[in-house]
Amino acid sequence: MNAVLESLWALHGFDEELVTLEAAISRFPADRQAVEQRVAADQARCESLKSRVHDLQVHRREREREIEGLVEQERKFQSQLMAVKKNEEYQALLHEIAALKSKRSEIETAVLLQMEEEEVVAAEKPAAEKSLQMARQEADARLHQIATLEQDDRDRTAAIESQRAVYLDRLPADVRARYERVRSSRGGRAVVPILKGACGGCFRAQPPQVLQEARRGDRLISCEGCGRLIIWPPESA
Ligand SMILES: [Zn+2]
Repeated sequence: MNAVLESLWALHGFDEELVTLEAAISRFPADRQAVEQRVAADQARCESLKSRVHDLQVHRREREREIEGLVEQERKFQSQLMAVKKNEEYQALLHEIAALKSKRSEIETAVLLQMEEEEVVAAEKPAAEKSLQMARQEADARLHQIATLEQDDRDRTAAIESQRAVYLDRLPADVRARYERVRSSRGGRAVVPILKGACGGCFRAQPPQVLQEARRGDRLISCEGCGRLIIWPPESA
């Protein structure tokens, strides 16, 4: 294998690693989002329980005021009973009082039922808050872990880029331009090995004379299928 092909083969190794690193780095935003969504879901549950308890309490207070009003009204009618002279007026007042009592009793029953509901909802709150607290702790740990992984991948990328630069400099200008062109149009993979007689990039079978030439390793060969530079892998020479 001549020096140009050797440099290209080294670049192949770096590029493969860069493609893998880039894919890993591109997944971090989604990983972060998934972590944040879990916390947001727990938070929404806590908020909803809190506002449900609040609404129930407001509603219960309204009903309690309604009961106070009815009691007041009843007391007024009771005192009027003493003053009325006519029997029909007396009967009418008794009727009103009975109606007030029955309405009050209905509301009191509703208040009792609602207090039970308040207790049920309030009882769910500590568990939901605990779960939110744990979700936050787990999220913090996971986000820290993601940040570390991402930093490692970025550091590794920078290290490979500087190693790549050394081999890029060794390429003649025309080869370098060709390599860069193919690399940018082929998702970062410009150089591929020949595997089982085919291009390692697009899997097109290579003619026997191309395979022979590639094996000699003295000339730059492109795959006619995908344009990538194909190299007979040194380890299988
Ligand atoms: Zn190909």
